Amino acid sequence: MKHKLLTMLLAIVAAFCLCLGLAACGGNGPDTGGSQTGQGGNGPGDSSGGTETENPGGGGTGGGTHAAEYFQVDETNHWKICTDCGEKFSEGKHNFNSDNTCETCGYSTIYSKGLQYSHNIITDTYTVSGIGTATDTELIIPAYYEGKAVASIRDDAFKNCWEVKLISVKIPDGVTSIGSSAFMGCTNLESVEIPNSVISIGQGAFQECTALASVKIPDGVTSIENGTFQECRNLTSIEIPNGVTSIGGGAFASCSKLRTIVIPDSVIAIGSNAFRATAYYNNDSNWDSNGMLYYGNFLIGASGTLSGAYTIKPNTKLIAGSVFSWCEQLTSIEIPDSVVTIGESAFYHCSELKSVTIGKGVTSIGMAAFHWCDKLQKVIISDLAAWCNIEFEYASNPLINHAHLYLGAEKVNELVIPDEVTEIKKDAFYNCDWLTSVTLHSGMTIREEAFQNCTGLTDIHFKGTVEEWQVLEEASDWNWNYNTGNYTVTCTNGTVKKNGPITYF
Ligand SMILES: [Zn+2]
Ligand SMILES: [Zn+2]
Repeated sequence: MKHKLLTMLLAIVAAFCLCLGLAACGGNGPDTGGSQTGQGGNGPGDSSGGTETENPGGGGTGGGTHAAEYFQVDETNHWKICTDCGEKFSEGKHNFNSDNTCETCGYSTIYSKGLQYSHNIITDTYTVSGIGTATDTELIIPAYYEGKAVASIRDDAFKNCWEVKLISVKIPDGVTSIGSSAFMGCTNLESVEIPNSVISIGQGAFQECTALASVKIPDGVTSIENGTFQECRNLTSIEIPNGVTSIGGGAFASCSKLRTIVIPDSVIAIGSNAFRATAYYNNDSNWDSNGMLYYGNFLIGASGTLSGAYTIKPNTKLIAGSVFSWCEQLTSIEIPDSVVTIGESAFYHCSELKSVTIGKGVTSIGMAAFHWCDKLQKVIISDLAAWCNIEFEYASNPLINHAHLYLGAEKVNELVIPDEVTEIKKDAFYNCDWLTSVTLHSGMTIREEAFQNCTGLTDIHFKGTVEEWQVLEEASDWNWNYNTGNYTVTCTNGTVKKNGPITYF
């Protein structure tokens, strides 16, 4: 009995250690058995390169691996400090290649002196924050400052840098982010080397780098932000890496020499004017006979003179932001099922637009997409479940123009939410003042303002009990029913008035 208790206690202690990650660091645990070379010592045996770091998924559970993202350095050595246990590991001498750069840690003896830095306490790394007293026009940012890794370039770091007319910039491997406007207005900058470690490039980072002739965007970047390369007037081609999902507004606008653009399939959203006034955009032969500009499956432009009804080409994947804005002679638009995203302001101020058909593939509609479409009467959909699942950004639902919803040819009067719907998204039926009755079911939630201003809504048929209705109300956002009619919910075992009493059958 006593023995059993002891084993149990030991088991608990062991589990506790595991939770704290103690066992993983191989400190004092009895069962390490790994390839550690004792406590404080980081002996010569380390050069074997055996126990590296960020790969805990190795063999067994007691693998004995430390964790640290960055090396620290001095002039001769590099090492890491475990973020879990504070032990020094992976120490070794720099192995310099012909570029005087250590193959292991990236430390180099050749770099620009005098840059300004700030220390990041949480990651114990440095951020380049400005030109400081540096004078190199061919700037080489070091991988380390005061022995610690340089991990980012701050917002505005070299913005409008007049002290030094930068011609080229080499960013070291290890830097993960380039801040907003970091190189904005560096008008002499002809080339920039961005390492593969960079995964984020901020808004306007290279805006107005008018001399920049080419740039390789690293593969780890997943979005091109607003205005990032705007007015890079010397850029002739750009390859957006596969993995990028969105291209921000104006990202390449006014790159007047940009004629070769590679947009990967991974892109699902393009902001307003992303490619406006590029050489591609300005070339009339790229526009079709209807006055539309497609780039592969991406619809990126429409001429303002488009009139009457228009059907977007089959297989089109997205409608970029502002494409049809101010098309004041457009009366009806058909969006095929292949389209996933309708960009911000896509149909802004289409003042004669009366009918819009939205395919069942649409999952998001950008801000103000149908703003000022005052004459919109018909919103035609084919799949109500798909409609309930659309992410509507602020004021983007075409129904807010008091348009009527149609399921195919049929005008919807009594709305029956399909059983497979588990969530009605924000704004889904906003301003449907024609709606009098809706059928809902248990096990679903309703997001904010989904039925806002449905002032005629007086009947809710609920496929569930009064108790299940209370669960739905509890799970839903408080203002899902803002400014509806004073409805009665008919449940299987009773009725519930809006904000009112319950009557059981
Ligand atoms: Zn450790
Ligand atoms: Zn090194």
